[in-house]
Amino acid sequence: MEDFNSKVVIVTGGNSGIGRAASHIFARRGARVAVVARRKPEVEAVVEEIRSFGGEAFGISADIADPEQVTAMVEQAVSHYGRLDVAFNNAGIIGKWAPIDDLSSEDFDLAIGVNLRGTWHCIRAEVAQMKRQGEGGAIVNTSSWLAQGALRGSALYSMTKAGQDVLVKSLTFELSEQQIRINNVAPGVIDTPMTSASTEADALSALIGQTPMKRLGTSDEVAEAAVWMCSPAAGFVTGQSLLVDGGYTIPGNRM
Ligand code: NAP
Repeated sequence: MEDFNSKVVIVTGGNSGIGRAASHIFARRGARVAVVARRKPEVEAVVEEIRSFGGEAFGISADIADPEQVTAMVEQAVSHYGRLDVAFNNAGIIGKWAPIDDLSSEDFDLAIGVNLRGTWHCIRAEVAQMKRQGEGGAIVNTSSWLAQGALRGSALYSMTKAGQDVLVKSLTFELSEQQIRINNVAPGVIDTPMTSASTEADALSALIGQTPMKRLGTSDEVAEAAVWMCSPAAGFVTGQSLLVDGGYTIPGNRM
């Protein structure tokens, strides 16, 4: 399916988990993909994977917490491919999970700085480029089911993801005037390096047990939903946060 037809796509967090899966899917569907993350060797590895099946990709090393690097990220994508049509702002961190007494201002600033401020900087730089082109565009960010709920200790993470959910709703009003759609994908508990690094086996079993589908989601399942929201097939979808969570957040579940 070549529904991206040489469109230029930025994928942040593209060297791992959900972002790596999305980079592959975009490329298989004909997009030219700028794969972005901080760890350059892992970025280049994904670029090579995509080129090995005949896809088009190149790598950018950038920290989304730094506004100058975000500006440079968009400039590099545009100088390499000539334009920007789509962005999947997926990079994020789990941050520190702890009772409020054990959280410092630095913990707060780190979580906000990457997940919310970083995503906001990406959106701002991408929108500026899309407006210059004047041909619309599509942006999807990775939120979380934890924007709509919480676990013990998830305060900082949930706060950043809830901020993303409100952000896309508000931006929908102004961006629709330029034919730019903006949405979030909101994963449930997904089998990625972030989950294995941050969740004890017992806690993971409990989360799986509370999920109606009785399993973890896969990176591909989340990425497919994100890519769909970026595609022309989702042309009237904007301002939404699409849960991909195996039913975990259905009201009444876990009662
Ligand atoms: P992952 O495999 O750890 O991927 C995280 C990605 O973000 C990596 O590519 C990482 O690359 C990049 N990243 C982190 N900080 C960055 C920064 N400051 N600048 C640029 N890139 C940065 O985890 P994942 O599960 O796929 O996470 C992807 C997104 O899904 C995140 O936003 C996460 O919050 C969200 N999410 C995950 C789950 C889940 O269950 N896994 C559930 C809900 C939401 P570098 O380290 O090389 O920079």
